[in-house]
Amino acid sequence: MELSKRITGISPSATLTITSKAKAMKKDGIDVISFGAGEPDFDTPEYIKDAAVAAIGGGKTKYTPSIGTVELRQAICDKLKSFNGLEYKQENIIVSNGAKHSLFNIFQAICQEGDEVIIPAPYWVSYTEMVKLSGAMPVIVGTNAADGFKLKADALAKAIRPKTKAIILNSPSNPTGCVYSKDELESILEVIKDKDIRVVSDEIYERLIYDGLGHTSFASLSDRAKEMTIIVNGVSKTYSMTGWRIGYIASTDLELTKSIKNLQDHSSSNPSSISQEAALAALSKEDDSVEKMKKEFEKRRDYMFERIGSIEKLSCVKPQGAFYSFVDASKVNKDSLEFAKKLLEDVQVAVIPGEGFGAPGFIRLSFATSMENIKEGLDRIEKWLRQ
Ligand code: PMP
Ligand code: GLU
Repeated sequence: MELSKRITGISPSATLTITSKAKAMKKDGIDVISFGAGEPDFDTPEYIKDAAVAAIGGGKTKYTPSIGTVELRQAICDKLKSFNGLEYKQENIIVSNGAKHSLFNIFQAICQEGDEVIIPAPYWVSYTEMVKLSGAMPVIVGTNAADGFKLKADALAKAIRPKTKAIILNSPSNPTGCVYSKDELESILEVIKDKDIRVVSDEIYERLIYDGLGHTSFASLSDRAKEMTIIVNGVSKTYSMTGWRIGYIASTDLELTKSIKNLQDHSSSNPSSISQEAALAALSKEDDSVEKMKKEFEKRRDYMFERIGSIEKLSCVKPQGAFYSFVDASKVNKDSLEFAKKLLEDVQVAVIPGEGFGAPGFIRLSFATSMENIKEGLDRIEKWLRQ
């Protein structure tokens, strides 16, 4: 039977494919160093796990409202107020099965066939495919290393057309680690503030920012900016909860939140009731584990950045957030799919090729792995390139 054009038009996820290949090789006893991971290598903090166990014991094992419990949505509002300085009410929040699900639902809700969504490249692998699945067309706007891989206002202005429905911003960024300053976001706002365009602001790495820099949510720039922004966030990265699958949306547009509620009612229903209790604990009883994890990531980032800089033919813009180094390997091979394949075959080091991020010639190295692995992996890459 012929499958739908919708589904055959999308590609497999480069991040998930390589990461699972490296995991399978490890299982087979092969000594693989994986820089593929898009998830913290730390365990979920104990107080969060305890809350989940208590939820099971306490019978919180039934359907909840499909958009999440009142308590969790209130905790998300409290976090948006205390951390981002933003006022939202429970009705502005939709809890989903991870931020990936939140993003998927947003494009389903706002896009028609033929609409366009602007995506700055390098971009996270799933954005383009989710946009395509909604019937809209991704419009890729390139950035460059000299600008820290950040979208410039003039490039954005040139890409806007009558069919532009939204732009995706991801700060800190996966895969580049770039972090937009308030001024940079303001220059973007200046270009779009009089247009009927949404900003889908993926802030999933907001707590992982280094060098003492802070996070600015696009929504916090002005009332107009808040009106235009659909915030996407979740607990996966901040609390090492990737497997629990809790993400959320915040938007002042009640038509939008109502339509996504309807979509969840008829597709996923509620995210796991137990995970919701765990996420509630994560947000409302936070201990020092996030800060400890961040410190460790910063140490690894510094080490990796220095090492990459010392390897001939490789270069990297210093990531300011998230847990990825986005390395220019084009002097070795412009085809990074081939580069990654050979690297894995020859010296068993897994990296994600840049093609999936709209940036051939680059490779993404995650530093969400131990310092020991980072040292060993970089030693292998260095030796391999010398030969
Ligand atoms: N956005 C970005 C930029 C990501 O890197 C991820 C990680 N997979 C997500 C969204 C989705 O996260 P999750 O679905 O685990 O909440
Ligand atoms: N966001 C992570 C990554 O980019 C997890 C994998 C995924 O969902 O794509 O590697």
